[in-house]
Amino acid sequence: MHDFEAVIGLEIHVELSTASKIFCSCPTTFGAEVNTQCCPVCLGLPGTLPALNRKALEYTVKAGLALNCQIARHTWFDRKNYFYPDLPKAYQVSQQDAPLCVNGYLEIPVGDSGTKKVGINRVHLEEEVGKSLHAGETIIDAVYSLLDYNRAGIPLIEIVTQPDIRSAEEAQTFLESLRNILRYIEISDCKMQEGSLRCDANISLRPKGSTAFGTKTEIKNLNSFRAVRRALEYEIKRQAGLLRDGLPVEPETRHWDEQKGVTVAMRSKEQTSFYRLFADPDLVPIDLSAEWIQQMERELPELPGARRERFIDEYGLPEYDARVLTAAKEMADFFEEVVKGYNDPKTVSNWIMTEILRYVKEQGEEAEGIPLPPASLVELLQLIEGGIINRNQAKEIVLPEMVASGKAPRQIVKEKGLEQISDTSQLEGVVASVLEANPDVVQDYLGGKEKVMGFLVGQVLKETKGKANPRLVNEMIREKLKQ
Ligand SMILES: [Zn+2]
Repeated sequence: MHDFEAVIGLEIHVELSTASKIFCSCPTTFGAEVNTQCCPVCLGLPGTLPALNRKALEYTVKAGLALNCQIARHTWFDRKNYFYPDLPKAYQVSQQDAPLCVNGYLEIPVGDSGTKKVGINRVHLEEEVGKSLHAGETIIDAVYSLLDYNRAGIPLIEIVTQPDIRSAEEAQTFLESLRNILRYIEISDCKMQEGSLRCDANISLRPKGSTAFGTKTEIKNLNSFRAVRRALEYEIKRQAGLLRDGLPVEPETRHWDEQKGVTVAMRSKEQTSFYRLFADPDLVPIDLSAEWIQQMERELPELPGARRERFIDEYGLPEYDARVLTAAKEMADFFEEVVKGYNDPKTVSNWIMTEILRYVKEQGEEAEGIPLPPASLVELLQLIEGGIINRNQAKEIVLPEMVASGKAPRQIVKEKGLEQISDTSQLEGVVASVLEANPDVVQDYLGGKEKVMGFLVGQVLKETKGKANPRLVNEMIREKLKQ
């Protein structure tokens, strides 16, 4: 029986967040009333001519540069001819022979501290098609379909990886890393739920150690990072089962059924030659100067890898912290803002990685970002440092309330009456009665069992409903038992 290795390549489509469409001035706002953001150009009516959106070109080149690609100096658009109701012109303007960006790579984290380069075959610019709404559970059993052309003509980049990915988990990590970097350079919001980031996966199996490629299938309808992973896990099992039984894997396009958790055969795979591609005669070829490309490179912000290194050097953070904090731009920005107000980077990092990230993760894959402003975390940390509240109160009472209500921590502390008692005269009586009530424990302590101190402090905290300053109580008990 063979042990198989998965060979996975991804094809990702990302809608660019330009204000207007690629060849006309229609707006690109998501969620508008159906068929209200279209014009004769994006509907492909006779007599219209396209004019390329400069921003779309800039964004594509920036994506290519961020993914370590070579940028083509001379390029053009092709027409990809096919009929489908969501494509009013019966051709899609795309790039086949002269993609804007080629031969790049993206470094992704693997394991605890390793990284791996996944090759980027190409990044090209094309136009988005309209959206079909199928009446039925799935596209396969739909009785009829409705069409919305608001999306037709939104600039879209296609990113094709090399078949360098070896597991479903790696595929998910790659996608997350890609989303992070595209968000860093602010060319797309990359929301899988809204369809601004979509992914198809090509997968084949081969015996471990072999370098030949097996027959691949392409999986479509992957609407979340989790779906990508689940669908690939399923497909690996399915193909391994066929191969073990000596059956062929059909080269076909398969549809991921999220509910049933299976992939279903849709159609045999089409070949590029079916599309009769040719250079679009309505659009002039594009020549890019070296200066202009350098200009685009200068406009790129600091990317996650460079920022990670800087976080280690500048803030003295461990590699692991730096990697987690710089994965998403908004998280890295948040960290730097908090450190400006509370200059203890490791403490800030610990709070973000344990407490704040928990809230972000609760929002799921489509997290909208950090649920509180940096100034609020600064204030909370100052309250702890000043001995006004203790760490547990901050984590268990104040922070959840800050996230839920948006109130400032100082106000929450006041409303809930959480101020710590840091006045010895208020604690004298409680400390005395706790010692009196626990003579055995006191004897243990005096006999050298230092550990029981925790119990005694705990009793005082219990009596004061958690308000006593534990460090102070500790000191007071020590002092008392010395006498
Ligand atoms: Zn239009």
